Amino acid sequence: MKLTTVITALILVLMYSGKLTAQNQKFGIVIHGGAGYITPGSIPDDLAKLYTKSLKNALDKGYKLLKNGGSAVDAVELVVSMLEDDTLFNAGKGAVFTEDFKNELDASIMNGADLNCGAVARLHHIKNPVKLARAVMNKSSHVFLAGDGAEKFAKEEKIEMVSAEYFKVWSRMPNEMKQKMPDKHGTVGCVALDKNGNLAAATSTGGIEGKKYGRIGDVPVIGAGTYANNNTCAISCTGQGEYFIRNNVAYDISAQMEYKGVTLAQATDYTLFKRMKRTGGVGGVIGIDKMGNIILKFSTEGMFRGYKLSNGDYQVLLYKGQK
Ligand code: ASP
Repeated sequence: MKLTTVITALILVLMYSGKLTAQNQKFGIVIHGGAGYITPGSIPDDLAKLYTKSLKNALDKGYKLLKNGGSAVDAVELVVSMLEDDTLFNAGKGAVFTEDFKNELDASIMNGADLNCGAVARLHHIKNPVKLARAVMNKSSHVFLAGDGAEKFAKEEKIEMVSAEYFKVWSRMPNEMKQKMPDKHGTVGCVALDKNGNLAAATSTGGIEGKKYGRIGDVPVIGAGTYANNNTCAISCTGQGEYFIRNNVAYDISAQMEYKGVTLAQATDYTLFKRMKRTGGVGGVIGIDKMGNIILKFSTEGMFRGYKLSNGDYQVLLYKGQK
């Protein structure tokens, strides 16, 4: 047998077993911690350092999981749950208040490999909404559970529950600390590409401060605030959710890539800066595609954001114009 034939056969066997693709496949993780009026003048240095540290810590953990061969879905769940436990962000423990001084949490997760997804909304007692979203995705025949039903399902699935007081950290925070926080401490989101070429996205939020009875934003609406498809990209959004729902932002970016063959960056520019702008909405989007290209774009003054990629690129940024 010729040497070239043997080599070709070997490559085919390796590719078929997934070993070659897994080794050569780029991987990486991108996160956001909300977009809004985030400027060097609006955040004191000590607080900016805290945000940077939290985002780096989450990125490091997610990246390590991917490096060790973990799945994109596990990575986004881990990272988002870490940020949910961090009161600097408007998700999980740090959730903002509704008009009647409650905390109502929303989250979602999506697996780009099979378009399976899970979403939860109007939660009052779930420590990590993203974990419940994952359980909806993996352990129920449904996609979207809300309110009491979602919490009943959480009990059945032994998802960690907490008292409503757990989320009231903001009311316990000293005024001088509150004043230091930026206007809008943000929603959290994560997108990842793993060594097997699978994409995933997850987003979690307390919603918009002072939201009215029963309001649900874009975060748990699959295709609006969160979307993942191995053929295109994984997307997580932040901003006034109503505009993201009206413009189907996350899916719109994926659809342009699928139907028009444009790049992730081109699709995001069109959706965020043209299509959404026409309806008046502002916010931010993070994304990663199947080749490992990433975007972190926003039409606000700033966005807490960061990425860590297998080619060594690693950054955490807060303000506009930072590179
Ligand atoms: N998109 C979230 C919502 O409308 C809020 C945010 O991202 O800050 O619920």
